[in-house]
Amino acid sequence: MVMGEVKLKERLQGCIRGEVLIGEPLSYHTYFRIGGPAEVMAYPAGLEDLKTLLKVARDEAIPVLILGGGSNMLVLDGGVKGLVINLSRTFLELSVAGEQIRCGAGVRTSRLLALSARASLTGLEGLTGVPGSVGGAIRGNAVTPLGTIADHLDWVRMVDCSGEERFMLRDELGVAYRHSELPTGTVIVKAAFALRRGVAAEIRGTISKLLIRRNLTQPVEVRSAGCIFKNPPRDFAGRLVEQAGLKGLRRGGAQISGKHGNFILNLGGATAADVLWLAERARAEVMAKTGVALELEIQVVGSPIAG
Ligand SMILES: Cc1cc2nc3c(=O)[nH]c(=O)nc-3n(C[C@H](O)[C@H](O)[C@H](O)COP(=O)(O)OP(=O)(O)OC[C@H]3O[C@@H](n4cnc5c(N)ncnc54)[C@H](O)[C@@H]3O)c2cc1C
Repeated sequence: MVMGEVKLKERLQGCIRGEVLIGEPLSYHTYFRIGGPAEVMAYPAGLEDLKTLLKVARDEAIPVLILGGGSNMLVLDGGVKGLVINLSRTFLELSVAGEQIRCGAGVRTSRLLALSARASLTGLEGLTGVPGSVGGAIRGNAVTPLGTIADHLDWVRMVDCSGEERFMLRDELGVAYRHSELPTGTVIVKAAFALRRGVAAEIRGTISKLLIRRNLTQPVEVRSAGCIFKNPPRDFAGRLVEQAGLKGLRRGGAQISGKHGNFILNLGGATAADVLWLAERARAEVMAKTGVALELEIQVVGSPIAG
């Protein structure tokens, strides 16, 4: 890194309104409850703060990690060098305009869904049970058996790594299975969803049914990052891991769920190294038994060892 973390904190604190922290444990901010510290973590207080942070990082060649809800992330045990921009306190606006919902990127997916039900707008029910923020869901094109978040996306407002604002229509985002082609370093700040008029009671009924199904089939009561692997074409990673006889396998504080083979759980005190060991074991055994190469779905970030 170009500057020491104390100098960088002072520099950032001097030019943004939001809070700046040194050495904040990222385990406090990830759904997994795993991860070493962020060298420097900043909470932008709004759009201008975000632009400033991105410009300073670009000018000083400081690596940047954007953190939404931290529900799709495995932060390695040595932590993250450079600047982590935490969006959990920013871009929280949420409004209805006719059949469209406009939503800040920091809004929890569950809040977006709750508003759609209140406003009798249907389309987003498939996102039931997907934790994290709307920005993170768009970035990774969150998917469930009922479809993807991109299915109802209208447009997205972003800030690029030079701090410039950009606007893209859904079709310009290049979305695919668990993927979007956002330019590197671009931060989503706002999105609009085009929905249809529905019946509030029916929307709530669908949400309840989907929640019950999730609770029955996924280990939602234990810390994880959701599915570890992407599903290979025409198959399910969980089925392949189960078929390889690995459900329940344990390493340190981590375990391949006995309920769903594509979930690795933090039973308490798991390290990122434990999780990666299990993921690698599952990948290798599935490859040996079926020839299928499983690809990680979670975002692995940071360094394995401090320093
Ligand atoms: C119990 C459980 C169940 C899950 N079920 C599903 C499921 O059914 N379907 C599914 O798709 N996923 C699922 N997930 C994974 C995860 O919840 C989703 O992928 C979610 O959309 C990630 O959002 P996030 O805000 O937590 O992203 P984060 O984990 O914070 O970040 C993920 C990636 O997005 C980037 N990012 C975050 N915010 C922004 C932004 N505003 N602009 C640009 N980049 C950004 C980050 O840098 C990172 O690369 C599940 C996870 C858990 C723990």
